[in-house]
Amino acid sequence: MPETADLPKLLQPYADNPRIKIRGAGEPLKDGKCVVYWMQRAQRGIDNPAVDLAIELGNKLELPVLVFFSAISNFPHANLRHYVFLNQGLPDIEEDLAERNVTFIVRRPPDNQLEKFLQEAGAAVLVGDENPCREPERWRRVLSRRLHLPYLTVDADVVVPSSLFSKHQYALHVMKPKLYAELPKYLVYQPKTKAKHQWKRPAQFRSFDVRSDLTKGWRDFDRSVGAVDTFTGGTHPALKRLKDFVDRSLHAYATKRNYPEWDGTSRLSPYLHFGHISPITIALAAQKAVEEGQATQAAYDAYINELIGWREISVNFVKYVPNYDTLECAPEWAQKTLREHARDKRNPEYTLEQLEQAKTYDDLWNAAQMQMVKYGWMHNYLRMYWAKKILEWSPNPARAYEYAVILNDKYELDGRDPNGYQGIAWAIAGVHDRPWFDRPIFGAIRYMSGASTGKKFDSKRYIENVASGNWAGD
Ligand SMILES: Cc1cc2nc3c(=O)[nH]c(=O)nc-3n(C[C@H](O)[C@H](O)[C@H](O)COP(=O)(O)OP(=O)(O)OC[C@H]3O[C@@H](n4cnc5c(N)ncnc54)[C@H](O)[C@@H]3O)c2cc1C
Repeated sequence: MPETADLPKLLQPYADNPRIKIRGAGEPLKDGKCVVYWMQRAQRGIDNPAVDLAIELGNKLELPVLVFFSAISNFPHANLRHYVFLNQGLPDIEEDLAERNVTFIVRRPPDNQLEKFLQEAGAAVLVGDENPCREPERWRRVLSRRLHLPYLTVDADVVVPSSLFSKHQYALHVMKPKLYAELPKYLVYQPKTKAKHQWKRPAQFRSFDVRSDLTKGWRDFDRSVGAVDTFTGGTHPALKRLKDFVDRSLHAYATKRNYPEWDGTSRLSPYLHFGHISPITIALAAQKAVEEGQATQAAYDAYINELIGWREISVNFVKYVPNYDTLECAPEWAQKTLREHARDKRNPEYTLEQLEQAKTYDDLWNAAQMQMVKYGWMHNYLRMYWAKKILEWSPNPARAYEYAVILNDKYELDGRDPNGYQGIAWAIAGVHDRPWFDRPIFGAIRYMSGASTGKKFDSKRYIENVASGNWAGD
């Protein structure tokens, strides 16, 4: 990036902001007609620092703001289940943006090409958001090489900007002091600014109706995994879910979160994955509950440990460890121990199909798998057990890693997420963990046995819940 003094004047105030990355430092288009925010990961109109930046730039340039969403039919590993949830979220974005005087434009193939859109709209500046996963980051890099406009991306889906960490943090206790020290600066209410200028839609300017089926007519699209009715996508359902959680369950989170047979966690992960809600909004609601005596500090600390601690080390992991979705991401000690046990006999050994269809001897594991397949979400305690058993039953650790990623990304509504890759890496590859006692197959990777896991909570009740449709233990 050029020195601050060499940047166009408009961009200079953002050069030292760790939440903002200046990917293209051209001059704003002369006679530009609007500022465009290309919304990808942060799919919401409120509490979104990328929207805030687009509005700020638009107001400085005396231009209106457009938010552009380009739907593609071949997003890596996405299927109908994920798209229905995404589609449900679009009307909330439109509505929330309209209140800020910002227009939402959605396009589908064949007329969804970003660069054509920027030309058609007369974009003076482009704003984007961040996603640490490989492909989305690649798209942003390619675009920044092709564009001549100023292009700024905003790290909109973390509390503490991920650029404040310049390398992979190998354990949460190493990352946490610096992460938490930044909270007073970044865990703050976000402004609800409005665009000064309303965009006037030219005749013939197309936008897809956000209440229609985005996927209609897509031939190359994966419809093999159906929608679920357990979650409804969108910022407004997310805020409702947050309120229910804070009112009913947050106070007991420190203890109840490890009881999968009860409704003890927030179940906000799908909303966080799609960017329908900001982690800052969630953390501030939890903080307010403590201030008002609705929850204890212990409950708050336990919740923030997951929401900010584990979630943001997951972003850090995916950002800095290139092979985050294969066994190659394992630290040296884990590679060595897994190699030493690679030839240990697996008994039983299951195929991917057997696992997918929940055809193992273990009723608890089968129930966890079915919770994910049928309802699109699995409780965290079972996710750990689920992945560890895949290591135990697969032909080798690399295959186990592959199976876990395939199943997780296919069926979890919150799949294809840094949290998922980190969770699997933790369970199978010892990432962000330490060596334990040596044992067959696992070597020094932490083990979870069926017998002891099943005794730590009412596993019979959990299995019955999943079978009867009371999937969340309400
Ligand atoms: C093998 C395995 C696979 C996983 N796959 C995914 C996945 O695909 N997508 C996903 O979002 N999470 C994944 N997790 C992390 C965690 O299980 C889920 O985030 C959590 O269960 C979601 O439920 P919740 O929203 O009720 O969580 P809550 O307990 O209410 O926590 C609030 C938020 O904190 C974050 N969080 C909670 N636990 C963790 C954790 N262990 N690691 C990182 N962030 C966490 C999530 O964003 C969550 O929504 C996985 C964990 C493991 C061990």
